[in-house]
Amino acid sequence: PPPAEKYEYQAEVSRLMDLIVNSLYSNKEVFLRELISNASDALDKLRYLSVTDPQLSKDAVDLDIRIQTDKDNGIITITDSGIGMTRQELVDCLGTIAQSGTAKFLKAVKESKDAGTDNNLIGQFGVGFYSAFLVSDKVVVSTKSPKSDKQYVWEGEANASSYTIREETNPENLIPRGTRLTLYLKRDDKGFAHPERIQKLVKNYSQFVSFPIYTWQEKGITKEVEVDEDPAEAKEADQDEKIEKKKTKKVVERYWDWELTNETQPIWLRNPKEVTTEEYNEFYKKTFNEYSDPLASSHFTTEGEVEFRSVLYVPATSPMGRDDITNPKTKNIRLYVKRVFISDDFDGELFPRYLSFVKGVVDSNDLPLNVSREILQESRIVRIMRKRLVRKTFDMILGISMSENKGDYETFWENFGKHLKLGCIEDRENHKRLAPLLRFFSSQSEDEMISLDEYVENMKAEQKDIYYLAADSVSSARNTPFLERLLEKDLEVLYLVDPIDEVAIQSLKSYKEKNFVDISKEDLDLGDKNEEKEKVTKEEFSRTCDWIKKRLGEKVANVQISNRLSSSPCVLVSGKFGWSANMERLMKAQTV
Ligand code: ADP
Ligand code: MG
Repeated sequence: PPPAEKYEYQAEVSRLMDLIVNSLYSNKEVFLRELISNASDALDKLRYLSVTDPQLSKDAVDLDIRIQTDKDNGIITITDSGIGMTRQELVDCLGTIAQSGTAKFLKAVKESKDAGTDNNLIGQFGVGFYSAFLVSDKVVVSTKSPKSDKQYVWEGEANASSYTIREETNPENLIPRGTRLTLYLKRDDKGFAHPERIQKLVKNYSQFVSFPIYTWQEKGITKEVEVDEDPAEAKEADQDEKIEKKKTKKVVERYWDWELTNETQPIWLRNPKEVTTEEYNEFYKKTFNEYSDPLASSHFTTEGEVEFRSVLYVPATSPMGRDDITNPKTKNIRLYVKRVFISDDFDGELFPRYLSFVKGVVDSNDLPLNVSREILQESRIVRIMRKRLVRKTFDMILGISMSENKGDYETFWENFGKHLKLGCIEDRENHKRLAPLLRFFSSQSEDEMISLDEYVENMKAEQKDIYYLAADSVSSARNTPFLERLLEKDLEVLYLVDPIDEVAIQSLKSYKEKNFVDISKEDLDLGDKNEEKEKVTKEEFSRTCDWIKKRLGEKVANVQISNRLSSSPCVLVSGKFGWSANMERLMKAQTV
Protein backbone atom coordinates (compact mmCIF):
# COMPACT_ATOMS: atom_id res chain seq x y z
CA PRO A 1 0.00 0.00 0.00
CA PRO A 2 1.12 3.59 -0.57
CA PRO A 3 2.68 5.16 2.52
CA ALA A 4 0.81 7.57 4.74
CA GLU A 5 0.78 11.07 3.39
CA LYS A 6 1.50 13.99 5.64
CA TYR A 7 -0.62 17.14 5.50
CA GLU A 8 -0.25 20.47 7.25
CA TYR A 9 -3.31 21.82 9.02
CA GLN A 10 -4.59 25.07 7.77
CA ALA A 11 -3.16 27.83 9.95
CA GLU A 12 -6.48 28.57 11.62
CA VAL A 13 -6.94 25.00 12.80
CA SER A 14 -4.35 25.28 15.54
CA ARG A 15 -5.83 28.58 16.59
CA LEU A 16 -9.23 26.94 16.73
CA MET A 17 -7.96 23.98 18.75
CA ASP A 18 -6.42 26.40 21.22
CA LEU A 19 -9.71 28.23 21.45
CA ILE A 20 -11.71 25.08 22.06
CA VAL A 21 -9.28 23.68 24.58
CA ASN A 22 -9.06 26.97 26.44
CA SER A 23 -12.73 27.73 26.56
CA LEU A 24 -14.00 24.24 27.24
CA TYR A 25 -11.34 22.76 29.50
CA SER A 26 -13.71 22.74 32.44
CA ASN A 27 -16.34 20.97 30.42
CA LYS A 28 -14.34 18.30 28.66
CA GLU A 29 -17.11 15.78 28.47
CA VAL A 30 -18.77 17.77 25.66
CA PHE A 31 -16.44 15.90 23.29
CA LEU A 32 -18.80 12.96 23.44
CA ARG A 33 -21.82 15.08 22.64
CA GLU A 34 -20.01 16.55 19.63
CA LEU A 35 -18.81 13.23 18.27
CA ILE A 36 -22.18 11.57 18.73
CA SER A 37 -23.77 14.52 17.05
CA ASN A 38 -21.38 14.15 14.09
CA ALA A 39 -22.23 10.48 13.89
CA SER A 40 -25.91 11.31 14.02
CA ASP A 41 -25.43 13.96 11.30
CA ALA A 42 -23.62 11.41 9.12
CA LEU A 43 -26.53 8.99 9.56
CA ASP A 44 -29.02 11.73 8.81
CA LYS A 45 -27.08 12.62 5.66
CA LEU A 46 -27.00 9.03 4.50
CA ARG A 47 -30.69 8.61 5.14
CA TYR A 48 -31.49 11.84 3.37
CA LEU A 49 -29.27 11.24 0.33
CA SER A 50 -30.37 7.66 -0.18
CA VAL A 51 -33.88 8.87 -0.78
CA THR A 52 -32.73 10.08 -4.18
CA ASP A 53 -29.73 7.74 -4.54
CA PRO A 54 -30.58 4.30 -3.15
CA GLN A 55 -27.12 3.06 -4.23
CA LEU A 56 -25.65 4.88 -1.24
CA SER A 57 -27.18 2.52 1.24
CA LYS A 58 -26.71 -0.65 -0.79
CA ASP A 59 -24.76 -2.12 2.12
CA ALA A 60 -27.64 -3.16 4.25
CA VAL A 61 -26.22 -2.19 7.62
CA ASP A 62 -28.37 -0.81 10.37
CA LEU A 63 -28.23 2.90 10.96
CA ASP A 64 -26.73 3.11 14.41
CA ILE A 65 -23.91 4.34 16.61
CA ARG A 66 -21.72 2.00 18.65
CA ILE A 67 -19.35 3.06 21.39
CA GLN A 68 -16.76 0.70 22.77
CA THR A 69 -14.35 1.37 25.60
CA ASP A 70 -11.07 -0.19 26.61
CA LYS A 71 -10.52 1.04 30.11
CA ASP A 72 -7.18 -0.67 30.61
CA ASN A 73 -5.63 1.19 27.71
CA GLY A 74 -7.77 4.33 27.85
CA ILE A 75 -9.26 3.96 24.39
CA ILE A 76 -12.73 4.86 23.14
CA THR A 77 -14.04 3.92 19.69
CA ILE A 78 -17.15 5.47 18.22
CA THR A 79 -18.51 3.82 15.10
CA ASP A 80 -21.36 5.00 12.94
CA SER A 81 -22.80 3.53 9.76
CA GLY A 82 -23.41 6.92 8.20
CA ILE A 83 -22.23 8.65 5.06
CA GLY A 84 -18.49 8.36 5.80
CA MET A 85 -15.82 10.44 4.04
CA THR A 86 -13.78 10.09 0.88
CA ARG A 87 -10.09 10.90 0.95
CA GLN A 88 -10.76 14.39 -0.35
CA GLU A 89 -13.52 14.89 2.18
CA LEU A 90 -11.13 13.92 4.97
CA VAL A 91 -8.78 16.67 3.86
CA ASP A 92 -11.59 19.16 3.42
CA CYS A 93 -13.49 18.35 6.59
CA LEU A 94 -10.83 17.50 9.13
CA GLY A 95 -7.78 19.33 7.81
CA THR A 96 -9.03 22.71 6.89
CA ILE A 97 -11.22 25.07 8.66
CA ALA A 98 -13.08 26.15 5.55
CA GLN A 99 -15.35 23.12 5.69
CA SER A 100 -15.72 22.86 9.38
CA GLY A 101 -18.90 24.07 10.96
CA THR A 102 -16.85 25.53 13.75
CA ALA A 103 -15.08 27.82 11.32
CA LYS A 104 -18.34 28.91 9.84
CA PHE A 105 -19.47 29.53 13.33
CA LEU A 106 -16.45 31.66 14.17
CA LYS A 107 -16.80 33.49 10.88
CA ALA A 108 -20.49 34.09 11.36
CA VAL A 109 -19.91 35.39 14.85
CA LYS A 110 -17.23 37.74 13.58
CA GLU A 111 -19.30 38.92 10.61
CA SER A 112 -22.40 39.53 12.63
CA LYS A 113 -20.33 41.37 15.21
CA ASP A 114 -18.74 43.51 12.49
CA ALA A 115 -22.06 44.19 10.86
CA GLY A 116 -23.82 44.59 14.16
CA THR A 117 -26.57 42.26 12.99
CA ASP A 118 -28.58 39.65 14.76
CA ASN A 119 -26.47 36.48 14.73
CA ASN A 120 -29.23 33.91 14.36
CA LEU A 121 -27.37 32.75 11.23
CA ILE A 122 -25.13 30.49 13.24
CA GLY A 123 -27.87 27.93 13.62
CA GLN A 124 -26.12 25.06 11.85
CA PHE A 125 -22.77 25.10 13.61
CA GLY A 126 -21.28 23.19 16.51
CA VAL A 127 -18.06 23.21 18.45
CA GLY A 128 -17.09 20.22 16.42
CA PHE A 129 -14.72 17.43 15.73
CA TYR A 130 -11.65 19.06 17.29
CA SER A 131 -13.25 18.81 20.71
CA ALA A 132 -11.95 15.21 20.54
CA PHE A 133 -8.57 16.70 21.46
CA LEU A 134 -9.98 17.96 24.73
CA VAL A 135 -9.44 14.45 26.06
CA SER A 136 -7.23 12.73 23.46
CA ASP A 137 -3.52 12.62 22.72
CA LYS A 138 -4.22 10.94 19.42
CA VAL A 139 -7.33 10.61 17.25
CA VAL A 140 -7.68 8.07 14.42
CA VAL A 141 -10.57 8.37 11.99
CA SER A 142 -11.11 5.36 9.77
CA THR A 143 -13.84 6.03 7.27
CA LYS A 144 -15.56 4.48 4.26
CA SER A 145 -17.77 6.52 1.98
CA PRO A 146 -20.24 4.66 -0.25
CA LYS A 147 -18.90 6.88 -3.04
CA SER A 148 -15.42 5.35 -2.73
CA ASP A 149 -14.31 1.74 -2.81
CA LYS A 150 -11.47 2.39 -0.41
CA GLN A 151 -11.40 3.05 3.30
CA TYR A 152 -9.09 5.80 4.56
CA VAL A 153 -7.45 6.56 7.85
CA TRP A 154 -6.88 10.06 9.15
CA GLU A 155 -4.52 10.34 12.08
CA GLY A 156 -3.80 13.41 14.16
CA GLU A 157 -2.18 14.27 17.47
CA ALA A 158 -2.91 16.97 19.98
CA ASN A 159 -0.81 20.12 19.57
CA ALA A 160 0.66 18.93 16.27
CA SER A 161 0.70 21.04 13.15
CA SER A 162 0.18 18.17 10.76
CA TYR A 163 -1.83 14.99 10.28
CA THR A 164 -1.59 11.96 8.01
CA ILE A 165 -3.93 10.10 5.69
CA ARG A 166 -3.40 6.54 4.51
CA GLU A 167 -5.40 3.68 3.14
CA GLU A 168 -6.87 1.23 5.65
CA THR A 169 -5.04 -2.07 5.21
CA ASN A 170 -5.78 -3.96 8.36
CA PRO A 171 -8.68 -6.28 7.40
CA GLU A 172 -9.80 -6.29 11.04
CA ASN A 173 -10.56 -2.59 10.78
CA LEU A 174 -12.60 -2.70 7.58
CA ILE A 175 -16.17 -1.47 7.87
CA PRO A 176 -18.87 -1.72 5.18
CA ARG A 177 -19.77 1.95 5.47
CA GLY A 178 -19.42 4.87 7.83
CA THR A 179 -16.81 6.12 10.24
CA ARG A 180 -14.90 4.74 13.18
CA LEU A 181 -13.19 7.20 15.50
CA THR A 182 -10.57 5.90 17.89
CA LEU A 183 -9.63 8.19 20.74
CA TYR A 184 -6.40 7.53 22.62
CA LEU A 185 -7.14 9.34 25.84
CA LYS A 186 -4.73 11.61 27.67
CA ARG A 187 -3.31 10.19 30.84
CA ASP A 188 -5.58 12.26 33.07
CA ASP A 189 -8.67 11.55 31.01
CA LYS A 190 -8.50 7.79 30.79
CA GLY A 191 -11.45 7.65 33.18
CA PHE A 192 -13.74 8.41 30.25
CA ALA A 193 -12.98 4.92 28.96
CA HIS A 194 -14.97 3.29 31.75
CA PRO A 195 -18.02 1.60 30.26
CA GLU A 196 -20.32 2.88 33.00
CA ARG A 197 -19.03 6.42 32.67
CA ILE A 198 -19.62 6.43 28.92
CA GLN A 199 -23.04 4.97 29.40
CA LYS A 200 -23.91 7.69 31.86
CA LEU A 201 -22.65 10.43 29.56
CA VAL A 202 -24.53 9.01 26.61
CA LYS A 203 -27.69 8.89 28.68
CA ASN A 204 -27.19 12.42 29.82
CA TYR A 205 -26.27 14.08 26.57
CA SER A 206 -27.82 12.03 23.85
CA GLN A 207 -30.59 10.04 25.35
CA PHE A 208 -32.88 11.22 22.62
CA VAL A 209 -30.69 11.12 19.51
CA SER A 210 -33.00 9.53 16.97
CA PHE A 211 -30.58 6.72 16.03
CA PRO A 212 -29.90 3.88 18.42
CA ILE A 213 -26.69 4.26 20.41
CA TYR A 214 -25.20 1.04 21.73
CA THR A 215 -22.46 0.87 24.33
CA TRP A 216 -20.29 -2.18 24.96
CA GLN A 217 -21.15 -3.40 28.43
CA GLU A 218 -20.21 -6.23 30.67
CA LYS A 219 -23.14 -8.42 31.65
CA GLY A 220 -23.72 -11.27 33.98
CA ILE A 221 -26.00 -14.22 33.57
CA THR A 222 -26.81 -16.51 36.47
CA LYS A 223 -26.59 -20.20 35.72
CA GLU A 224 -27.11 -23.32 37.76
CA VAL A 225 -24.28 -25.76 37.39
CA GLU A 226 -23.91 -29.24 38.79
CA VAL A 227 -21.28 -29.70 41.44
CA ASP A 228 -19.46 -32.82 42.43
CA GLU A 229 -20.50 -34.06 45.80
CA ASP A 230 -18.25 -34.38 48.72
CA PRO A 231 -17.37 -38.13 48.71
CA ALA A 232 -17.72 -38.38 52.51
CA GLU A 233 -21.23 -37.03 52.40
CA ALA A 234 -22.11 -39.21 49.46
CA LYS A 235 -21.39 -42.33 51.43
CA GLU A 236 -23.84 -41.39 54.14
CA ALA A 237 -26.59 -40.34 51.80
CA ASP A 238 -29.17 -42.78 50.60
CA GLN A 239 -28.30 -44.21 47.21
CA ASP A 240 -31.71 -43.64 45.51
CA GLU A 241 -32.03 -40.08 46.66
CA LYS A 242 -28.63 -39.30 45.29
CA ILE A 243 -29.65 -40.21 41.81
CA GLU A 244 -32.74 -38.02 41.89
CA LYS A 245 -31.19 -34.89 43.38
CA LYS A 246 -27.90 -33.87 41.86
CA LYS A 247 -26.31 -31.01 43.76
CA THR A 248 -26.22 -27.67 41.93
CA LYS A 249 -24.94 -24.22 42.66
CA LYS A 250 -25.54 -20.80 41.16
CA VAL A 251 -22.73 -19.10 39.32
CA VAL A 252 -22.62 -15.81 37.46
CA GLU A 253 -21.17 -16.05 34.00
CA ARG A 254 -19.66 -12.80 32.74
CA TYR A 255 -19.70 -11.72 29.12
CA TRP A 256 -19.68 -8.55 27.03
CA ASP A 257 -22.41 -7.36 24.69
CA TRP A 258 -23.92 -4.30 23.06
CA GLU A 259 -26.51 -2.52 25.11
CA LEU A 260 -29.01 -0.01 23.77
CA THR A 261 -28.32 3.12 25.77
CA ASN A 262 -30.72 5.75 24.46
CA GLU A 263 -34.40 5.96 23.79
CA THR A 264 -34.71 6.63 20.11
CA GLN A 265 -38.13 8.16 20.07
CA PRO A 266 -38.32 11.05 22.51
CA ILE A 267 -41.78 11.73 23.79
CA TRP A 268 -41.88 15.23 22.33
CA LEU A 269 -41.31 13.93 18.81
CA ARG A 270 -44.32 11.69 19.06
CA ASN A 271 -47.79 12.68 17.98
CA PRO A 272 -49.53 14.24 21.02
CA LYS A 273 -52.66 12.32 20.11
CA GLU A 274 -50.83 9.06 20.63
CA VAL A 275 -49.23 9.80 23.97
CA THR A 276 -51.21 8.98 27.09
CA THR A 277 -51.33 11.10 30.23
CA GLU A 278 -49.59 8.26 32.04
CA GLU A 279 -46.72 8.42 29.59
CA TYR A 280 -46.35 12.17 30.00
CA ASN A 281 -46.41 11.77 33.75
CA GLU A 282 -43.89 8.95 33.63
CA PHE A 283 -41.54 11.01 31.51
CA TYR A 284 -41.94 13.90 33.93
CA LYS A 285 -41.16 11.85 36.99
CA LYS A 286 -38.21 10.13 35.37
CA THR A 287 -36.71 13.27 33.90
CA PHE A 288 -37.12 15.53 36.91
CA ASN A 289 -36.86 12.99 39.72
CA GLU A 290 -40.33 13.80 40.93
CA TYR A 291 -42.52 11.58 43.05
CA SER A 292 -45.91 13.02 42.31
CA ASP A 293 -47.70 13.57 39.03
CA PRO A 294 -47.75 17.09 37.61
CA LEU A 295 -50.89 19.23 37.81
CA ALA A 296 -50.89 19.82 34.07
CA SER A 297 -48.86 19.23 30.96
CA SER A 298 -48.74 20.72 27.51
CA HIS A 299 -47.17 19.20 24.42
CA PHE A 300 -46.86 21.34 21.35
CA THR A 301 -44.97 21.94 18.13
CA THR A 302 -44.46 25.20 16.36
CA GLU A 303 -43.51 25.42 12.74
CA GLY A 304 -42.84 28.15 10.26
CA GLU A 305 -40.73 31.05 11.35
CA VAL A 306 -39.24 29.18 14.28
CA GLU A 307 -39.35 25.45 14.66
CA PHE A 308 -39.37 23.83 18.05
CA ARG A 309 -41.15 21.22 20.08
CA SER A 310 -41.81 21.23 23.74
CA VAL A 311 -43.45 19.39 26.58
CA LEU A 312 -44.13 21.59 29.60
CA TYR A 313 -45.37 20.73 33.07
CA VAL A 314 -46.80 22.52 36.07
CA PRO A 315 -45.57 20.65 39.15
CA ALA A 316 -47.93 19.73 41.95
CA THR A 317 -45.45 20.66 44.62
CA SER A 318 -43.07 23.50 45.15
CA PRO A 319 -39.54 22.76 46.20
CA MET A 320 -39.39 22.62 49.96
CA GLY A 321 -37.17 24.72 52.09
CA ARG A 322 -36.03 27.19 49.51
CA ASP A 323 -37.54 30.15 47.80
CA ASP A 324 -37.26 29.41 44.14
CA ILE A 325 -38.44 32.83 43.09
CA THR A 326 -35.08 34.15 44.07
CA ASN A 327 -33.21 31.08 42.91
CA PRO A 328 -33.10 31.11 39.12
CA LYS A 329 -30.90 28.00 38.98
CA THR A 330 -33.71 25.52 39.00
CA LYS A 331 -32.59 23.19 36.21
CA ASN A 332 -36.25 22.93 35.31
CA ILE A 333 -35.97 23.35 31.55
CA ARG A 334 -33.90 20.92 29.51
CA LEU A 335 -32.85 22.46 26.23
CA TYR A 336 -32.18 20.22 23.25
CA VAL A 337 -31.00 21.22 19.83
CA LYS A 338 -32.02 18.76 17.16
CA ARG A 339 -32.60 16.16 19.86
CA VAL A 340 -29.12 16.57 21.34
CA PHE A 341 -29.22 17.60 24.97
CA ILE A 342 -27.56 21.00 25.35
CA SER A 343 -28.12 22.20 28.89
CA ASP A 344 -30.53 22.61 31.75
CA ASP A 345 -28.97 25.89 32.74
CA PHE A 346 -30.88 28.15 30.41
CA ASP A 347 -34.31 28.38 32.04
CA GLY A 348 -33.64 32.03 32.72
CA GLU A 349 -33.23 32.68 29.01
CA LEU A 350 -36.28 30.70 27.95
CA PHE A 351 -38.70 31.71 30.69
CA PRO A 352 -39.23 34.84 32.75
CA ARG A 353 -38.08 34.49 36.34
CA TYR A 354 -41.60 34.38 37.73
CA LEU A 355 -42.37 31.24 35.70
CA SER A 356 -39.24 29.45 36.91
CA PHE A 357 -41.42 26.75 38.48
CA VAL A 358 -42.42 25.39 35.06
CA LYS A 359 -40.58 22.20 34.13
CA GLY A 360 -40.12 20.69 30.72
CA VAL A 361 -38.09 20.04 27.62
CA VAL A 362 -37.59 22.33 24.67
CA ASP A 363 -36.11 20.99 21.44
CA SER A 364 -35.14 23.53 18.81
CA ASN A 365 -34.13 22.92 15.22
CA ASP A 366 -32.93 26.47 14.74
CA LEU A 367 -30.34 26.94 17.47
CA PRO A 368 -26.63 26.04 17.24
CA LEU A 369 -25.34 23.03 19.15
CA ASN A 370 -22.79 25.13 20.93
CA VAL A 371 -25.45 27.57 22.01
CA SER A 372 -24.36 29.71 24.89
CA ARG A 373 -26.16 32.04 27.23
CA GLU A 374 -24.89 34.99 25.18
CA ILE A 375 -26.29 33.55 21.96
CA LEU A 376 -29.62 32.81 23.61
CA GLN A 377 -29.85 36.30 25.00
CA GLU A 378 -29.26 37.93 21.62
CA SER A 379 -31.21 35.56 19.47
CA ARG A 380 -34.39 36.61 17.77
CA ILE A 381 -35.34 32.93 17.59
CA VAL A 382 -35.21 32.67 21.35
CA ARG A 383 -37.37 35.75 21.75
CA ILE A 384 -40.06 34.10 19.65
CA MET A 385 -39.67 30.80 21.49
CA ARG A 386 -39.93 32.54 24.83
CA LYS A 387 -43.15 34.22 23.85
CA ARG A 388 -44.72 30.95 22.76
CA LEU A 389 -43.52 29.11 25.84
CA VAL A 390 -45.00 31.75 28.12
CA ARG A 391 -48.34 31.67 26.31
CA LYS A 392 -48.52 27.90 26.49
CA THR A 393 -47.77 28.12 30.18
CA PHE A 394 -50.68 30.50 30.72
CA ASP A 395 -52.97 28.19 28.75
CA MET A 396 -51.87 25.36 30.98
CA ILE A 397 -52.53 27.30 34.19
CA LEU A 398 -55.88 28.51 32.89
CA GLY A 399 -56.68 24.86 32.19
CA ILE A 400 -55.99 23.98 35.81
CA SER A 401 -58.24 26.83 36.96
CA MET A 402 -61.09 25.45 34.89
CA SER A 403 -60.51 21.87 35.94
CA GLU A 404 -63.43 19.96 37.45
CA ASN A 405 -61.23 19.15 40.36
CA LYS A 406 -61.32 22.42 42.27
CA GLY A 407 -58.57 21.31 44.60
CA ASP A 408 -56.07 21.38 41.75
CA TYR A 409 -56.15 25.12 41.40
CA GLU A 410 -56.06 25.57 45.16
CA THR A 411 -52.91 23.47 45.21
CA PHE A 412 -51.49 25.47 42.35
CA TRP A 413 -52.32 28.77 43.98
CA GLU A 414 -50.86 27.74 47.28
CA ASN A 415 -47.58 26.73 45.64
CA PHE A 416 -47.21 29.28 42.88
CA GLY A 417 -49.66 32.13 43.53
CA LYS A 418 -46.74 34.27 44.64
CA HIS A 419 -45.03 33.67 41.32
CA LEU A 420 -48.00 34.99 39.37
CA LYS A 421 -48.17 38.06 41.58
CA LEU A 422 -44.49 38.63 40.89
CA GLY A 423 -45.45 38.31 37.22
CA CYS A 424 -47.92 41.19 37.60
CA ILE A 425 -45.02 43.32 38.77
CA GLU A 426 -42.43 42.14 36.26
CA ASP A 427 -44.35 41.37 33.08
CA ARG A 428 -46.65 44.15 31.95
CA GLU A 429 -47.08 42.58 28.56
CA ASN A 430 -48.95 39.66 30.06
CA HIS A 431 -51.23 41.49 32.48
CA LYS A 432 -54.27 40.36 30.52
CA ARG A 433 -53.26 36.72 30.96
CA LEU A 434 -52.14 37.03 34.56
CA ALA A 435 -55.04 38.94 36.08
CA PRO A 436 -57.77 36.30 35.57
CA LEU A 437 -55.55 33.79 37.38
CA LEU A 438 -55.24 35.79 40.60
CA ARG A 439 -57.15 34.84 43.73
CA PHE A 440 -58.01 36.86 46.86
CA PHE A 441 -60.08 36.68 49.98
CA SER A 442 -62.77 39.32 50.23
CA SER A 443 -65.22 40.88 52.65
CA GLN A 444 -67.86 38.56 51.23
CA SER A 445 -65.69 35.50 50.92
CA GLU A 446 -63.40 35.17 53.89
CA ASP A 447 -62.81 31.43 53.67
CA GLU A 448 -62.63 30.77 49.96
CA MET A 449 -60.59 32.86 47.58
CA ILE A 450 -62.30 34.48 44.64
CA SER A 451 -61.12 35.51 41.19
CA LEU A 452 -61.34 39.02 39.82
CA ASP A 453 -64.01 37.80 37.43
CA GLU A 454 -66.11 36.66 40.34
CA TYR A 455 -65.60 40.03 41.97
CA VAL A 456 -66.65 41.92 38.86
CA GLU A 457 -69.72 39.76 38.46
CA ASN A 458 -70.70 40.59 42.01
CA MET A 459 -70.30 44.35 41.56
CA LYS A 460 -73.23 46.68 42.19
CA ALA A 461 -74.84 48.28 39.15
CA GLU A 462 -73.57 51.75 40.03
CA GLN A 463 -70.15 50.53 41.27
CA LYS A 464 -67.24 51.68 39.10
CA ASP A 465 -64.17 50.55 40.96
CA ILE A 466 -62.71 47.42 42.46
CA TYR A 467 -62.13 48.04 46.17
CA TYR A 468 -59.28 46.55 48.08
CA LEU A 469 -57.73 46.75 51.47
CA ALA A 470 -54.25 45.60 52.38
CA ALA A 471 -53.81 44.05 55.79
CA ASP A 472 -51.69 41.40 57.40
CA SER A 473 -54.53 38.92 57.82
CA VAL A 474 -58.19 38.39 57.01
CA SER A 475 -59.18 39.04 60.60
CA SER A 476 -57.32 42.31 60.87
CA ALA A 477 -58.78 43.39 57.54
CA ARG A 478 -62.28 42.57 58.77
CA ASN A 479 -61.79 44.78 61.82
CA THR A 480 -60.59 47.99 60.23
CA PRO A 481 -62.84 51.06 60.38
CA PHE A 482 -62.20 51.70 56.66
CA LEU A 483 -64.62 48.93 55.86
CA GLU A 484 -67.64 50.24 57.73
CA ARG A 485 -69.28 52.33 55.05
CA LEU A 486 -68.57 49.82 52.33
CA LEU A 487 -70.02 46.96 54.31
CA GLU A 488 -73.04 49.08 55.05
CA LYS A 489 -73.51 49.65 51.34
CA ASP A 490 -72.92 45.96 50.68
CA LEU A 491 -69.85 46.69 48.52
CA GLU A 492 -67.35 43.84 48.30
CA VAL A 493 -63.74 44.58 49.27
CA LEU A 494 -60.75 42.42 48.35
CA TYR A 495 -58.50 41.60 51.25
CA LEU A 496 -54.86 41.72 50.22
CA VAL A 497 -53.20 39.73 52.96
CA ASP A 498 -49.99 38.64 51.27
CA PRO A 499 -47.29 41.32 51.41
CA ILE A 500 -46.76 41.18 47.65
CA ASP A 501 -50.49 41.56 46.85
CA GLU A 502 -50.63 45.31 47.06
CA VAL A 503 -47.71 45.91 44.73
CA ALA A 504 -49.12 43.38 42.27
CA ILE A 505 -52.55 45.04 42.25
CA GLN A 506 -50.99 48.46 41.88
CA SER A 507 -49.02 47.22 38.87
CA LEU A 508 -52.20 45.98 37.24
CA LYS A 509 -53.94 49.34 37.89
CA SER A 510 -57.22 48.06 36.49
CA TYR A 511 -59.13 44.96 35.51
CA LYS A 512 -61.75 44.96 32.77
CA GLU A 513 -61.61 48.76 32.74
CA LYS A 514 -62.33 48.98 36.44
CA ASN A 515 -59.71 50.68 38.54
CA PHE A 516 -58.36 49.16 41.69
CA VAL A 517 -59.05 51.52 44.58
CA ASP A 518 -57.40 51.34 47.97
CA ILE A 519 -60.10 52.06 50.54
CA SER A 520 -57.54 53.22 53.07
CA LYS A 521 -56.48 56.21 50.99
CA GLU A 522 -57.72 59.69 51.88
CA ASP A 523 -59.96 60.61 48.95
CA LEU A 524 -62.12 57.52 48.73
CA ASP A 525 -65.23 58.44 46.76
CA LEU A 526 -68.15 56.10 47.11
CA GLY A 527 -70.24 58.23 44.78
CA ASP A 528 -72.60 59.39 47.53
CA LYS A 529 -71.22 62.84 48.35
CA ASN A 530 -73.54 65.38 49.87
CA GLU A 531 -71.40 68.47 49.46
CA GLU A 532 -73.77 70.83 51.20
CA LYS A 533 -73.92 68.72 54.32
CA GLU A 534 -70.19 68.11 54.28
CA LYS A 535 -69.46 71.81 54.14
CA VAL A 536 -71.61 72.47 57.16
CA THR A 537 -70.06 69.66 59.16
CA LYS A 538 -66.57 70.77 58.20
CA GLU A 539 -67.19 74.26 59.48
CA GLU A 540 -68.79 72.99 62.61
CA PHE A 541 -65.81 70.83 63.47
CA SER A 542 -62.98 72.95 62.10
CA ARG A 543 -61.79 74.10 65.55
CA THR A 544 -61.93 70.54 66.87
CA CYS A 545 -59.74 69.43 63.95
CA ASP A 546 -57.27 72.22 64.58
CA TRP A 547 -57.06 71.30 68.23
CA ILE A 548 -56.43 67.62 67.48
CA LYS A 549 -53.78 68.49 64.89
CA LYS A 550 -52.05 70.71 67.47
CA ARG A 551 -52.03 67.93 70.02
CA LEU A 552 -50.69 65.31 67.58
CA GLY A 553 -48.21 67.68 65.93
CA GLU A 554 -45.76 65.99 63.57
CA LYS A 555 -47.34 62.59 64.06
CA VAL A 556 -50.00 63.30 61.43
CA ALA A 557 -50.01 65.36 58.24
CA ASN A 558 -53.56 66.53 58.51
CA VAL A 559 -56.79 66.13 60.48
CA GLN A 560 -59.98 66.13 58.43
CA ILE A 561 -63.69 65.56 58.60
CA SER A 562 -64.58 62.35 56.77
CA ASN A 563 -67.76 60.79 55.49
CA ARG A 564 -66.40 57.30 55.32
CA LEU A 565 -67.08 56.10 58.85
CA SER A 566 -70.35 54.99 60.30
CA SER A 567 -69.70 53.78 63.84
CA SER A 568 -66.03 54.47 64.60
CA PRO A 569 -65.22 58.01 65.71
CA CYS A 570 -61.95 58.34 63.79
CA VAL A 571 -59.56 56.53 61.48
CA LEU A 572 -55.95 56.91 60.43
CA VAL A 573 -55.63 57.11 56.65
CA SER A 574 -52.73 57.42 54.23
CA GLY A 575 -52.22 60.35 51.94
CA LYS A 576 -53.36 59.99 48.33
CA PHE A 577 -49.80 59.86 47.05
CA GLY A 578 -48.18 58.34 50.09
CA TRP A 579 -47.62 54.75 51.02
CA SER A 580 -50.47 52.78 52.44
CA ALA A 581 -50.08 51.68 56.02
CA ASN A 582 -49.40 48.18 54.77
CA MET A 583 -46.65 49.35 52.41
CA GLU A 584 -45.16 51.41 55.15
CA ARG A 585 -45.01 48.31 57.30
CA LEU A 586 -43.31 46.42 54.46
CA MET A 587 -40.75 49.13 53.85
CA LYS A 588 -39.95 49.26 57.51
CA ALA A 589 -39.51 45.50 57.62
CA GLN A 590 -37.07 45.73 54.72
CA THR A 591 -34.91 48.50 56.08
CA VAL A 592 -34.55 47.01 59.53
P1 ADP B 1 -19.83 20.24 11.93
O1 ADP B 1 -20.36 18.97 12.46
O2 ADP B 1 -20.45 21.42 12.60
O3 ADP B 1 -19.88 20.36 10.44
P2 ADP B 1 -17.37 19.25 12.91
O4 ADP B 1 -16.07 19.89 13.23
O5 ADP B 1 -18.07 18.56 14.01
O6 ADP B 1 -18.28 20.37 12.30
O7 ADP B 1 -17.18 18.25 11.73
C1 ADP B 1 -16.56 18.68 10.56
C2 ADP B 1 -16.99 17.88 9.39
O8 ADP B 1 -16.38 16.60 9.41
C3 ADP B 1 -18.47 17.60 9.31
O9 ADP B 1 -19.16 18.63 8.70
C4 ADP B 1 -18.51 16.33 8.47
O10 ADP B 1 -18.48 16.69 7.09
C5 ADP B 1 -17.21 15.67 8.82
N1 ADP B 1 -17.46 14.60 9.80
C6 ADP B 1 -17.18 14.64 11.12
N2 ADP B 1 -17.53 13.48 11.71
C7 ADP B 1 -18.06 12.70 10.76
C8 ADP B 1 -18.61 11.37 10.73
N3 ADP B 1 -18.73 10.63 11.83
N4 ADP B 1 -19.04 10.90 9.53
C9 ADP B 1 -18.94 11.63 8.41
N5 ADP B 1 -18.43 12.87 8.39
C10 ADP B 1 -17.99 13.42 9.52
MG1 MG C 1 -20.26 18.52 14.45
